[in-house]
Amino acid sequence: MYDIIIIGAGTAGLTAAIYGQRAGLSCKVFEKYAPGGQIVNSPSIENYPGMYGVSGYDYSMALLEQAQKLGAEVEFAEVTGVDFSGKTKKVITSAEDFEAKAVIIANGAARRKIGCKGEEEFEGRGVSYCATCDGAFFRGKTVAVVGGGESAFEEAEYLAEICDKVYLIHRRDVFTAAKTAVDSLLKKKNVTLLTNSVIEEIKGENAVSSAVIKNRANRSKVEVPLSAVFVAIGLVPENGLYKDVLTLDEYGYFDAAEDCKTNIEGVFAAGDTRKKQLRQLVTAASDGAAAATAAANYIRKNF
Ligand code: NAP
Repeated sequence: MYDIIIIGAGTAGLTAAIYGQRAGLSCKVFEKYAPGGQIVNSPSIENYPGMYGVSGYDYSMALLEQAQKLGAEVEFAEVTGVDFSGKTKKVITSAEDFEAKAVIIANGAARRKIGCKGEEEFEGRGVSYCATCDGAFFRGKTVAVVGGGESAFEEAEYLAEICDKVYLIHRRDVFTAAKTAVDSLLKKKNVTLLTNSVIEEIKGENAVSSAVIKNRANRSKVEVPLSAVFVAIGLVPENGLYKDVLTLDEYGYFDAAEDCKTNIEGVFAAGDTRKKQLRQLVTAASDGAAAATAAANYIRKNF
């Protein structure tokens, strides 16, 4: 039996592992994709203290190495079920069942989809949710990025360097991205902003060849030839596995406060998966530390 099982190897989960191991507790981390979580796709991190300009990939690998050097076991497997009914918590993966004294859920959140016609059909054939993963396939081509937050501006900035033309399509005329990101993108000559606009349909034969864009202000529609649509419109929690036993808020995030405690003793929720005002690397790291500390206190009192 492990002291703590951590579900998710993003910033929150690996920080929890670092704090857990340093508190003398054995930590097992499960990750279904790659270490680092959302940030692994960021070309450059500029708002994490002491980390200016480090790529998301390098940061993720450094974080993984730090947790492992401290003794955390990281396994790449999907958690398919949990049993939190007893004092000992059970975590079920596709291969095996595991037990722990405490569990920290740090499974992040998934990319939101537009839900327009053609999005699902062309996923992987021109519709992408990661410019750093797929941008190179569209070198010298015309592409669109959808969204007005940090991710959309980062993706557009990255694509502007390798693509011939980039449309940034946003449903409003104000952006939630930082002003520095907006100013920087506006300087690029091959970027066109289409505000108050939404994609109604993504079209093509075998791969994306155009998108129908509707202007919400004057209701006009235009079909723009392009080779790819990069969707960067935020995150949605994926907490269906827990909805019958743990309390979620109206949007599906864990209803846990700063101490990361859920409604079940010994089960904690940390990072983007928890309801909170600001989802950033620093807040994820902060949650990881808080959750591991709370788990350590819980274990000390109860085992
Ligand atoms: P976000 O900040 O939640 O922004 C989502 C954007 O997509 C908003 O512009 C939103 O428009 C738009 N949107 C939402 N639903 C839409 C829909 N159905 N159709 C069209 N547009 C839609 O998401 P994000 O940029 O992916 O960032 C997620 C979190 O990660 C944020 O907390 C962000 O700060 C953080 N992040 C941080 C960094 C960094 O610090 N370097 C980098 C990337 C992400 P409205 O404004 O109209 O709602």
